[in-house]
Amino acid sequence: MLDMDGVLFHGMNPITGAKEFLDKIKEIPHIFITNNPILLPEVIADKMENMGFNRPKVDQILTSGEATAIWLSHQKKNFRYFAVGAEGLHQSLQKYGIEDNENADYVVIGEGEGISYEAITTGVNLLLNKHAELISTNPDSSVDAFHHGKRIVLPGGGALVAPFSKASGKKPTTIGKPFPLLYQMALEILGHSAEKCLMIGDRPDTDILGAQKMGIQTALVRTGRFQPGEKLPKEIHNLNWDVGSLHELLET
Ligand SMILES: [Mg+2]
Repeated sequence: MLDMDGVLFHGMNPITGAKEFLDKIKEIPHIFITNNPILLPEVIADKMENMGFNRPKVDQILTSGEATAIWLSHQKKNFRYFAVGAEGLHQSLQKYGIEDNENADYVVIGEGEGISYEAITTGVNLLLNKHAELISTNPDSSVDAFHHGKRIVLPGGGALVAPFSKASGKKPTTIGKPFPLLYQMALEILGHSAEKCLMIGDRPDTDILGAQKMGIQTALVRTGRFQPGEKLPKEIHNLNWDVGSLHELLET
């Protein structure tokens, strides 16, 4: 299982050694899992191809947005939803459910644009008056991004779901890492047990912690959130691998 941002690429720039790593593991079953719900899997496959990677199969990419839509369809066939978030989340939900701002079963909050005073009001009233359930694609408080070449911080899924949760008093069900659902779906797709799998990620608090809770082996690559030599948070230990790069992981 591979995280994408900070492991394979930063924005539109591939990370050195990532293409070679994917070439080396092409015979080993693998899946890309990302908390980022903004792009559809097919758009991410295009993006990777444009960056010079071999194009992954669309069903090898599990975004928190796509996973949310699939999971909801397992809870209730033809579910009704009110969604707030980027276009990719809406497109994923449209594949499995029916948009309904008046009688939604689920209020789904993802990352990206779309949140407004009006959207919060609609969502909160569905939660309180129509007994809709609150769903969050991912719990990240913030997301690293680049804007005109400068590193900036964007609000993450956890920050965006907060006003809905606070105003309604309802706690969200969260799909993305470090919660178990995204890993469980990935394990099902791979068809292997947790202890046979390895999660490769750059974020100890999501990629690594969530995988450890599931009994999945872990490799931290220090090409994203953490740089080589940087001290990790205290709660992170028992990493199976802690390496500077994917290239280094191949060599160990
Ligand atoms: Mg990452």
